[in-house]
Amino acid sequence: MSGCGSGCGDGSGGPMSEGRELVEFVLQAHGGAISKTPIPNGGLETKCQGCGEAFTLVNFVGQCPKCKGVHAVSPPRCEDQANIQYAGDEFKLAENW
Ligand SMILES: [Zn+2]
Repeated sequence: MSGCGSGCGDGSGGPMSEGRELVEFVLQAHGGAISKTPIPNGGLETKCQGCGEAFTLVNFVGQCPKCKGVHAVSPPRCEDQANIQYAGDEFKLAENW
């Protein structure tokens, strides 16, 4: 996989994907390095799309503190919380993520 978050990719998922596809794209981008990179300007205020809990997405991939719902935003779109994508109720990160 060679997704770089700036338009390249292999056609199955990319920075403009939505939902779980976007979350999985960000998780694997640059070997996982992007997912744990802080969002510029302190993160994005958002609401969990699973349970409605308000929280701040600090890194490009983050979890709701309440239900562990996985959310992500791609680097080219990280200036607007409306671009945050939710992976869905069944999607969970690994225990040691
Ligand atoms: Zn939640």
